[in-house]
Amino acid sequence: MKTEVLKIDGQSLALSKQIIERGGVVAIPTETVYGLGANAFDTAAVERIFEIKGRPNDNPLIVHVHKEYDISTLVDKIPEYAKLLAKAFLPGPLTMVYKSKGVVSKAVSCGLNTLAIRIPSHDGAQRFLKYVNLPIAAPSANISKHVSPTTAEHVFADLNGKIELILDGGKSEGGIESTVLDCTGEIPVILRSGLITREMIAKVAGECGEYVYKDGMRAISPGMKYKHYSPNCRTVLFDFDELDKAVKLYNEECGKGVKAYLLCDDETAQKSSVKNVLNLGKDENEVAANLYSKLREGEKTADLIIAVAPEKQDGVMVGVMNRLTKACR
Ligand code: AMP
Ligand code: MG
Repeated sequence: MKTEVLKIDGQSLALSKQIIERGGVVAIPTETVYGLGANAFDTAAVERIFEIKGRPNDNPLIVHVHKEYDISTLVDKIPEYAKLLAKAFLPGPLTMVYKSKGVVSKAVSCGLNTLAIRIPSHDGAQRFLKYVNLPIAAPSANISKHVSPTTAEHVFADLNGKIELILDGGKSEGGIESTVLDCTGEIPVILRSGLITREMIAKVAGECGEYVYKDGMRAISPGMKYKHYSPNCRTVLFDFDELDKAVKLYNEECGKGVKAYLLCDDETAQKSSVKNVLNLGKDENEVAANLYSKLREGEKTADLIIAVAPEKQDGVMVGVMNRLTKACR
């Protein structure tokens, strides 16, 4: 199959609609990462997503809709706090989980009675969703367990020959996946951290819980238990106060002829003074935006990525650390 990469215009949108309507999948840009989308009403199309990615079939998908879509046709029992949160943060990188009305394919939620819904703010994503005017089930557009894609080139590298069309909407500015928020209980509970932080949610909703998954527990958000975001090379992760250990390892490995790279924020990069650095940038938003592209850049040349955690561990860095830990374990 030939994979076309097209900028978003009338022609590529018309093609994307044709593909979606005949049960195919299309890669689309969003403000977080690129998604691999299919018609959420079409079971065979949704199953195709799992097949293409090699995604475990108990890891549910998020349904994406345009900003005027009436989500009350898809889900039930939208609590008051969720309405406030939607007003404050949507369209944007926040996915909200509700009780499902069971109208989309069962394959989307892998048998759960809930449905995760997201309204992306990316202009290209909105144009695509409006054009097809269907709920689009879409996980990240990468091979399962690999680093998520933040450019059309990243998607092409993983899925060339496996899908017909990648809509190119430039670099995803957020850089890490949406915050997933359980809105089925008395208070909102974060299932996956992201750019909309616990502090931001608590400010609007009054309270916000956080679900912490431990190995062996029944995961309410099955994605939590899987290995994720991993580059195709060896990785190791040090705490922010272990830079001396990281540099020692870097020097030992380079001495053995191993191509080692340090992956860290700008402050640590300046302190380390080593040659091969994958610099994630200065503030938390820059670090999130660059994380996946630097992991992908690293895996192309490095034998070993030595990551050093940022000192700041709250806000957006909670989401960054969640990805970095999974990438490096
Ligand atoms: P991905 O699309 O690869 O970014 O992953 C989607 C994430 O959303 C995974 O962590 C899923 O477990 C989570 N998710 C999707 N649907 C649901 C749902 N109905 N309930 C809880 N978590 C969900
Ligand atoms: Mg993913």
